[in-house]
Amino acid sequence: MEASDAFVGLACLACGEPANGDVPGWCQTCGGILDAQYEYEALDVTRDTFASRPFTSMWRYHELLTHSPDEAVTMAEGCTPLVDCPEFADALGVARVLIKDEGRNPTATFKDRGHSLAITAAASHGASDIALASAGNAGQSAAAYATRAGLTAHVFVPDRAGLTQRALIRRHGARLEVVDGTLGDAGAAYEAAMAAHPEWYSTQAFVTPYRHEGKKTMGYEIVEGLDWTVPDAIVYPTGGGVGLLGIQKGISEFHRLGLVEGSPAVYAAQSTGCAPIVRAWEAGADEHEPWVDPDTICAGIEVADPVASPHVLSVLRETGGSAVATDDDAILTAMRRVATRDGVEMAPTSAAAASGACALADQGAFTEDDAVVVVNTGAGSKDPDV
Ligand SMILES: *Cc1c(COP(=O)(O)O)cnc(C)c1O
Ligand SMILES: [Zn+2]
Repeated sequence: MEASDAFVGLACLACGEPANGDVPGWCQTCGGILDAQYEYEALDVTRDTFASRPFTSMWRYHELLTHSPDEAVTMAEGCTPLVDCPEFADALGVARVLIKDEGRNPTATFKDRGHSLAITAAASHGASDIALASAGNAGQSAAAYATRAGLTAHVFVPDRAGLTQRALIRRHGARLEVVDGTLGDAGAAYEAAMAAHPEWYSTQAFVTPYRHEGKKTMGYEIVEGLDWTVPDAIVYPTGGGVGLLGIQKGISEFHRLGLVEGSPAVYAAQSTGCAPIVRAWEAGADEHEPWVDPDTICAGIEVADPVASPHVLSVLRETGGSAVATDDDAILTAMRRVATRDGVEMAPTSAAAASGACALADQGAFTEDDAVVVVNTGAGSKDPDV
């Protein structure tokens, strides 16, 4: 593997134990989530190192990625805009709302950041097949990047996955397996297939450390886009929390490198149809209980059993944020309002963050001077069936 100079290996987020090698999997000691480690002291980067580069792909932050840009499987993902939304700011009673518009990625969601890095790692490892379970968007992204790298993707989706996602997964030449039931059932089918094919390389969320790693570039871009300051709040539509943990890691790395001061309050937004993180937050628990019978139009965040919940909950606590759930009607109303007034097209799943921001404003979470970033994780055209 050709690594970035500062990357020193993987270690467990829970127990800190270093991993054996650089392949996806759980911590050998405690079963926890693996995460990339860097020798930050060895890095010689300033604001200008990044600011002087074109804003065209997340690989502009390659010193802080696990692989080098020479081997990157990339389609110019990342480097999305922060769109000022004055009408939305007015509605929330805050100074600014900025929508981080991840709909502008190659397959129209932020999943591309994770899969650019995860497929780069798979190709660099010499894998021929990759596999994952997905609600749809991650599978579509995996299929696109895998075919670009000449790998075969095996994608397991629940039967409620969107028609667009299913069609495009097939269009990219992946092997699509449609499983009756929920994302959890698709996950069980994926696990059975992995057991039968130990040579397959996983790009499953949190099994691979490279998806949360790729998504941390959202944190870098938010800071750089705000002229090297942090926003007061970030509201994130939370399923597994891959992107939430990534953003938090990115911002704290920039903090550690002396590139920015302060840290934003991080808020997790969910739908009342599947809100295990919010329920755990409200109970003051350190981890979630699986949600029984998940049912929401927000397919991308219908994650009943989010394995990273202890880490997500501790980010909310440590940054002074919280977790909020709104119902599907409120989510669709928020989606329509943002499209009508500010023009930005949000995916229904992502609109949980817009709706959550409204609920947080009602709770008095923001002040009138605040700058609030709402992450639009996917394009409005992604889920026409909703
Ligand atoms: C996958 C997905 C999410 C949730 O992602 P996590 O980072 O796992 O919480 C949110 N929005 C969209 C559009 C998605 O596809
Ligand atoms: Zn561990």
